[in-house]
Amino acid sequence: MQRQVRAVAVEERGFAEIASVGILLAILVGFALFLYCRAEEQTVPVTGRTQRVALSEEDQAQLGAEAYRDILAGSATEIVRTGPEATLVRRTGERIAAVADDPGFVWEFTLIASPAKNAWCLPGGKVAVYSGILEIARDEKGLAVVMAHEIAHAIAQHGAERMLQEQLTRVGLLALSTTLGGLDPASRGALLALFGAGAQLGVLLPFSRDMESEADRIGLIYMARAGYNPEAAIGFWERMAAAREGPEPPEYASTHPSDATRIANLQKWLPEAMEEYRKTTETGVTMLPQLPAGFLLPPAPAQRMAATSASD
Ligand SMILES: [Zn+2]
Repeated sequence: MQRQVRAVAVEERGFAEIASVGILLAILVGFALFLYCRAEEQTVPVTGRTQRVALSEEDQAQLGAEAYRDILAGSATEIVRTGPEATLVRRTGERIAAVADDPGFVWEFTLIASPAKNAWCLPGGKVAVYSGILEIARDEKGLAVVMAHEIAHAIAQHGAERMLQEQLTRVGLLALSTTLGGLDPASRGALLALFGAGAQLGVLLPFSRDMESEADRIGLIYMARAGYNPEAAIGFWERMAAAREGPEPPEYASTHPSDATRIANLQKWLPEAMEEYRKTTETGVTMLPQLPAGFLLPPAPAQRMAATSASD
């Protein structure tokens, strides 16, 4: 009799556990669907790809501006405010942003004194360029390759798109963790790590590489519209590849396409950009004179000023 009662109790507890796991899973699936559907479908300019993003353009602009202020005010950030290079970064950025498919962002272009050969862009049109990349850019056309690529990331709203992908991956991990609740902690941890790695290699990294390629393609068109010969992009990325220290990471494990893939893609997209360039130069639009190669000089210490506060 006692054994029977215990068996029924165990069975009831089993049912209760399955029911609570089911309810939790339903909530998580519902939440994932909510995140996905709340993000309206929209079209990326130039490529025509449809996408969903986690934030409205207004929210991107606000959050991007806040993060930009915080990063630039960081103690290690030395902003170059004056001098020919800072002026050129702003001028080239503004010239390209003026012909891009601007969703009304307030653009900002900042030069940061750093040997890093890098540049980045936050949602809402906040761009930073490290002075180390200027020696690869060499001249205004080369700098236009960098600026057009970063502007393309902002216009294509890649930051907000990535945010949605990461949110959905996190909900997926939580759902899996709930389902695996009955397993011993070691097996559960191993399966979750496997899913995490799978999502990283199979979803997030390929998306990241696609975004890089999309920014390259859109960037070529924006360069052309601004009157910069898009052929400059090939030379720029060849110099970037040559300047790389150490071996490249394998493409499947990288956020960026390999140098060879990138250059091959640029060659493939160049004809449509050259057509756009031809149209720009034929319209008789007065182009700003391009500065000669080799004008870029290392900024003098007096031209550098450390960022001291967020309101600078
Ligand atoms: Zn990029």
